[in-house]
Amino acid sequence: MSFDLQKLVRSHIADLQPYSSARDEFDTVEREIVYLDANENPFDNGVNRYPDPQQRKLKEVIARRRGVAANQLLLGNGSDEVLDLIFRAFCIPNQDKIIVMPPTYGMYKVLANINCISLDEVPLNNDFQLVIKDILNQISSQTKTIFLCSPNNPSGNSFQREDILTLLKSFTGLVVIDEAYIDFSTQKSLVFDLSSYPNLIITQTLSKAYGLAGIRLGICIASEEIIDILNKIKPPYNINSLTQERAISALKDWDTTQGQITQLIAERKGLFAQLEKVSFVEKVYPSDANFLLVQVDDANKRYAQLIENNIVVRNRSKQVGCENCLRFSVGTPRENQILIETLNRLSS
Ligand SMILES: *Cc1c(COP(=O)(O)O)cnc(C)c1O
Repeated sequence: MSFDLQKLVRSHIADLQPYSSARDEFDTVEREIVYLDANENPFDNGVNRYPDPQQRKLKEVIARRRGVAANQLLLGNGSDEVLDLIFRAFCIPNQDKIIVMPPTYGMYKVLANINCISLDEVPLNNDFQLVIKDILNQISSQTKTIFLCSPNNPSGNSFQREDILTLLKSFTGLVVIDEAYIDFSTQKSLVFDLSSYPNLIITQTLSKAYGLAGIRLGICIASEEIIDILNKIKPPYNINSLTQERAISALKDWDTTQGQITQLIAERKGLFAQLEKVSFVEKVYPSDANFLLVQVDDANKRYAQLIENNIVVRNRSKQVGCENCLRFSVGTPRENQILIETLNRLSS
């Protein structure tokens, strides 16, 4: 059996005639044009016109930064919209299944539930690495998509590259790799492997390293054929004009982003060393992202104490393999100092 995209896409999506917006049917920048086609208010206030439905300028900038072609990109209102589009294009409700590896990002399961897709869970091992043998055993004829998150949230580590490639080679469905934290990672993005694996879909976001969680911009990178399918079902104007403008200026200012990434990684290392010295901290897990998973003596108690001290962290202790674990995002130097001082005060 080999990979056949036409067999994976839901048949009504393959046959779908997408909505054609006014701006899809006519858009040019070369000439002075009188636009009377979209029932917009003509008085210029900067946002009175509909945004570019194909986000061409923004895609050019992202394509250059990521080293892919613009037609290998689909943009969404956050990665969550991108992930939902993948479900809706490929996963047949009440029939297809997906595989996820807990502990991991909770949205894969929620989106599976929303879309009536059942979910097989193959837990990560004690080092939070993939258990390839178990995943391969779990794959059935109903398995449409495997979701991986690397670096993984909430554990913070990256999966071994060889394991990811083994899955890509062995599975003839789609493999989605969520690279939300890739800019903090010592591992290379799978973007460079797209030409070798037609079943690979990568998602990224401007919400983390780029500091733009508020504008909601998620990125899907895949083959042109997969992107064409997702493009058919995306809402016509899903990326608003303000988001497109702000994303372009941030992507052009790589020095600022890179400086912040370097600083956050340095802060993470400092935080790691300080956390290991806190009396009730049992283990700090190695991280390739901008957060640390920390096992404490009693997660519920320490979580409540931190809230009392006006510090909000994430209690992950109910997740598989994360007993008594809290997740700390790396903050500014001042915020990290407050965290450490507070933890040390609670120790005594
Ligand atoms: C934060 C995060 C995202 C980002 O989601 P957006 O909708 O783009 O803000 C995606 N995946 C994982 C694993 C995350 O932790």
